[in-house]
Amino acid sequence: MAFEGLTQRLQDTMAKLRRKPKVTEADLNETMRDIRLALLEADVNFKVVKDFVKQVRTRAAGAEVLKGLNPAQQIVKIVNEELTKMMGEEAVDLNKSEKIPTIIMMAGLQGAGKTTTAGKLALKLKNDQNARPMFIAADIYRPAAIDQLEQVAESIDVPVFQLGTDVDPVEIVRQGLEQARDQHNDYVIIDTAGRLQIDEKLMDELANIKKLADPDEILLVVDAMTGQNAVETAQGFNDKLDITGVVLTKLDGDTRGGAALSIRAVTGKPIKFVGQGEKMDDLDVFHPDRMASRILG
Ligand code: GDP
Repeated sequence: MAFEGLTQRLQDTMAKLRRKPKVTEADLNETMRDIRLALLEADVNFKVVKDFVKQVRTRAAGAEVLKGLNPAQQIVKIVNEELTKMMGEEAVDLNKSEKIPTIIMMAGLQGAGKTTTAGKLALKLKNDQNARPMFIAADIYRPAAIDQLEQVAESIDVPVFQLGTDVDPVEIVRQGLEQARDQHNDYVIIDTAGRLQIDEKLMDELANIKKLADPDEILLVVDAMTGQNAVETAQGFNDKLDITGVVLTKLDGDTRGGAALSIRAVTGKPIKFVGQGEKMDDLDVFHPDRMASRILG
């Protein structure tokens, strides 16, 4: 379960505060120190933690909070609101094109869950909007990647456009989009190549695909379990590709939660979905407010 440690630490901090008959400046300082450590232990980005604590401290130091009734409860409320803000405030919808097809480009490092997420997303579009999505297989570097996409696609009954591994990915995308237009698919999901780390060749190829396809949505898929590495990856991809959103996968296996809490604040780009399992229906819209409440337990 995500955020286990953080939830426990924050609950302990707040319980300690509630036991005080009166909350003093010193108590507030101690609380802020505890929250800071709890967030750092959850692997939240250092600068994000610093800004967060400063903001909570400023709001909590307002005379009303310390002098009013239930200061502890008010501090919990402030922490909840600031956590929500840090994660982006509101759920952000997928971008949709005025005319079909809406083009979604998936990007991410190998193993992050890109292909699985492409499948989950297609199924969601089918279920929620009765959509007719099509995949384009643009990862030509691993033959297994195309097979995997074919398998995922078959399980949810979505067509795949592919030209094997010998054609340039940009050309594959060009022909795939042509076919999608001919066949009136309303969504095209492009599965691109991933690598073990960000490199120039990968980024150039993705930039070229972006240039040709002019996607409505560039979704970066990152693995929540990699914590601050996921945040760095998001920053790297965003610098090069100007992504439109993030899908955070494997939240079901992430006990700390640092990536979920940092990505929006560091990159300015919203987490649109979270993956919470390996099955095709394990994809959820990311709601910052619900996540904040879940963290506070
Ligand atoms: P790609 O290389 O980025 O295309 O990654 P894959 O889609 O092949 O996923 C890599 C592994 O992560 C697979 O075993 C997936 O089943 C698994 N995976 C993907 N998303 C999730 C998730 O949200 N939760 C869990 N537990 N596993 C996931």
